[in-house]
Amino acid sequence: MDKKDINLLTDSEVDSRISKLKSELGSDLFMPVHHYQRDEIVKFADYTGDSLELSRISAKTNAKYIVFCGVYFMAEIARALASENKIVFLPNRSAGCPLADFASIEDVEKVWVRMNKDEFIPITYANSHIEIKAFCGENGGLVCTSSNASKLFKWVFNQNKRVFFIPDKNLGINTANELGVKNYYIVNPSNIQDKEIKKADVVIWDGYCPVHHYVFTVEQVNEWRRKEPDAKVIVHPECRPEVVNASDMSGSTAKIKREIEESNSGSKWVVGTEYNFVNRLKNNNTDKFVAPLEISICVNMSKITRRDLLKTLINVKNRDFTEQIIIDSDISKNARVAVERMLELS
Ligand code: SF4
Repeated sequence: MDKKDINLLTDSEVDSRISKLKSELGSDLFMPVHHYQRDEIVKFADYTGDSLELSRISAKTNAKYIVFCGVYFMAEIARALASENKIVFLPNRSAGCPLADFASIEDVEKVWVRMNKDEFIPITYANSHIEIKAFCGENGGLVCTSSNASKLFKWVFNQNKRVFFIPDKNLGINTANELGVKNYYIVNPSNIQDKEIKKADVVIWDGYCPVHHYVFTVEQVNEWRRKEPDAKVIVHPECRPEVVNASDMSGSTAKIKREIEESNSGSKWVVGTEYNFVNRLKNNNTDKFVAPLEISICVNMSKITRRDLLKTLINVKNRDFTEQIIIDSDISKNARVAVERMLELS
């Protein structure tokens, strides 16, 4: 069918074409879907998870085509980890990540030249551009996730070195707090203070995820405690430190999902992370009370629609690879080093 006609189809017609193409492509196709995607995409997932988990699974699949439903940095890392004969697509290439955009390679290098390289090890959160991962790989550093950040900070400290953490200041501060590290410096490339770099055990990039940083507040936590005193408040560590401190616990999407699924029937949860995910947790745990701390939607994660997915599957079926994700081979190689180092230590 002509791709222009897709907009004329009803939602259920689009869905049945997606299902048909998925079954025609069979094991040649693998569709990893991030937890924050819309329900209309999640229902077609071959696997749902967080970004790195999905990339690792994608690297192991025998499928020729990986249609990654997430944001751009996730498709990039899936591309870097997958063998060269695989072809990776992101159904909407305009789905970026404002957190990743906080750290360009030019700015990171501007700060790096002001540091004593023998004293610092760079760690980048998975939510970063591929060039930043490659920079870490090239400079003895690695990638981390929100689940293993504190373990990897400790790995650096055990070598009597200091951490240069990019790009999420909230995860950086929350991790420093968890480890009792008080001596950190938030660096902004437009105002680099050499004196502060010299003193800090952790230099943290001045970036944040708007979905977690702006929306969730301590007042909301207090309000929920008044309304539902038996509920536990669990938030993502991309939330501001004061929100994490006011909550009962914090953790990655995987941890949030596990805590709620494994809790007793009748237990109550208030969750501070992206709404598509929280709403799905609510619908999948009907024997429990699950509510969003506040509704916060990642507009980038919501960019992929069922129609985008259908267009991409038509391209795959027609062997039209013009929209595949391509990365420079050196960048890819160094980014892989950073991920593999993390995997060895995890
Ligand atoms: S939720 Fe935040 S970190 Fe995740 S993709 Fe959206 S903007 Fe980026």
